[in-house]
Amino acid sequence: MPHAPRRLEQAGLQTLAIHAGEAPDPVTGASAPNLVMSTTFVVDGETAFASGSDKEQFVYARHSNPTVQQLEQKLAALEGAEAGVAFGSGMAAIAALMLLTLRSGDHVVMTDVAYMGAAELMKDYLPALGVRVSRVNTADLEAVRAALTPATKLVHIETPANPILRLTDIAAVAELAHAAGARLSVDSTYATPVATRPLALGADFVIHSLTKYLGGHGDALGGALLGPAAEMTAARDKTLVHFGGVLSPFNAWLILRGLATLPLRMRAHAENAWHVARFLETHPKVTRVFYPGLPSHPQHALAGRQMRNFSGMVTFQTAAGPRAARVLSERLEIIHYAVSLGHHRSLVFFIDTADLLANSYALDPAQSESYRAYAGDGVFRFSVGLEDPEDLCRDLDQALAAL
Ligand SMILES: *Cc1c(COP(=O)(O)O)cnc(C)c1O
Repeated sequence: MPHAPRRLEQAGLQTLAIHAGEAPDPVTGASAPNLVMSTTFVVDGETAFASGSDKEQFVYARHSNPTVQQLEQKLAALEGAEAGVAFGSGMAAIAALMLLTLRSGDHVVMTDVAYMGAAELMKDYLPALGVRVSRVNTADLEAVRAALTPATKLVHIETPANPILRLTDIAAVAELAHAAGARLSVDSTYATPVATRPLALGADFVIHSLTKYLGGHGDALGGALLGPAAEMTAARDKTLVHFGGVLSPFNAWLILRGLATLPLRMRAHAENAWHVARFLETHPKVTRVFYPGLPSHPQHALAGRQMRNFSGMVTFQTAAGPRAARVLSERLEIIHYAVSLGHHRSLVFFIDTADLLANSYALDPAQSESYRAYAGDGVFRFSVGLEDPEDLCRDLDQALAAL
């Protein structure tokens, strides 16, 4: 039975997306990956309870499961990581990284613009655990340098950042962090490994919400942490096993299926986003558009260096402020007015600046002003899906006409 793992050292990204982590089933020859739902595995009398996590042998599914392991191996291949650990959500992966790398008395430098859940974790929980948090505009290398202290253990960035698509220079920040004895983690959910491979640029850890582009179809929550093998073993033993934020094998199986088409989907997402961003740039009701692929993006040059694909997220403003949210939610016919992103369906949601600053970010006045200068009263975060781009533009046009 031809079931030995294939040699994929020379393989391109699309081949890895299809074949990495997978092999035909040794018993049945099944070509597609099995869905193994078993929570426990029959073992010999020599096997201890805790021995399953990093061994060949499966013992209990909170440590590892064959279907989840296939996903972890495929993700590691796509990111060029030594290893990866899957979690039940992106937030579980972020929380695991913080618990793995930070102790009371440590300091973390965190991007001031981030996914709301990550920002709230930094604002509320880490300080309560005795970890000092500095929120910094990580696009400003001098500000990053100034924030680093001998107690800094971790620098955490997002690029492009949710929701305003601000970029951070991964290689430059990795150099600053390492010179200060800290490590760099990159939430690469918006970029995906098709656009950017943070580990190759010097980052120590990569985080993904698998719920977004990697799963790609809006039907499975998941998260992943990727990095050096020894630390991923620690992440499994110390955070996954003890805190229990495991990924369901069924979700792993759905995400594996989604991943097989990731490079193809990202090409189509980026093409559609380019089309829609250019349409919005000339629309009379739209005052500002951010898309890393547009020459008007303030960091377009960095985007060209750091992103091989500009992804499918477009952020735009109208002059109507928060009132526009109700209008678009009522009028859009194809595009869903909903949170989340990275699905084949187009999704749009208004991110209200006052709400974000008061409830999630709690930044100092100067940082709040700097966010406001970018985002005004609020922005529409538009996850451009895989529909025909002409239909998306027509849908936006008829909804924006009511403003
Ligand atoms: C959605 C998202 C997360 C959180 O992921 P979940 O799977 O919803 O827990 C983290 N980071 C970014 C950038 C996200 O967009």
